[in-house]
Amino acid sequence: MVDVAKNLHEVLNNLPEKVRLVAISKFHPNEYIEAAYNEGQRVFGESHEQELKKKVETLPKDIEWHFIGHLQTNKVKYIAPYISMIEACDSLKLMKEINKQAAKNNRVIKILLELHIAEEEAKYGLTLDECRQLLAEGEWRELKNVQICGLMMMASFTDNEQQIANEFDLANSFFNEIKAEYFANDSSFCERSWGMSNDYKIAIHHGSTMVRVGTFIFGPRVY
Ligand SMILES: *Cc1c(COP(=O)(O)O)cnc(C)c1O
Repeated sequence: MVDVAKNLHEVLNNLPEKVRLVAISKFHPNEYIEAAYNEGQRVFGESHEQELKKKVETLPKDIEWHFIGHLQTNKVKYIAPYISMIEACDSLKLMKEINKQAAKNNRVIKILLELHIAEEEAKYGLTLDECRQLLAEGEWRELKNVQICGLMMMASFTDNEQQIANEFDLANSFFNEIKAEYFANDSSFCERSWGMSNDYKIAIHHGSTMVRVGTFIFGPRVY
């Protein structure tokens, strides 16, 4: 077994106090999550609804689960009772469904808006202009059971650290723009979820408040 405790503490020791760790446990067994839990880690990220459900049912109840993958609207109802944050929200349609299912469960669900900034072709994530437009249209203001807590993005998959840093900077200045225009008086709009195993050390110097690290802690995933 991978030395989860050692790896976890190595990441935690690298994080400034204001940056939180979401331990990405997708495709890893409960034993790995328990090893991190026993070291005090409470926030975990998963990307598949069925796998998450099994883990929620069998692991401690005080874990905060973040949904980090692409979420189909027809799956929202399954995670709505317990999900702590949905990180990859990239359409008004998905926001409306989250709102509806959150209301059914008498709760407010925290979400992040997912940006597409990386150079790779990606099916998911809002371009900056799409995100501006979504916010300008204003319908999101009526969704009382959804709380927009900030932004999430993935940098390009590249060895070029300058490019990665530039992408984080772009996301960070976009965060400031959106914050000033729409959320200036909303202290809960504060999260910038960027940085993964390969680039979290860069991310923490470029505005990240939340890193999503999987492989570095738990080892390679077996799909
Ligand atoms: C899998 C995943 C991660 C974790 O990636 P690692 O390289 O294993 O740290 C982070 N964010 C998202 C959105 C993911 O899907």
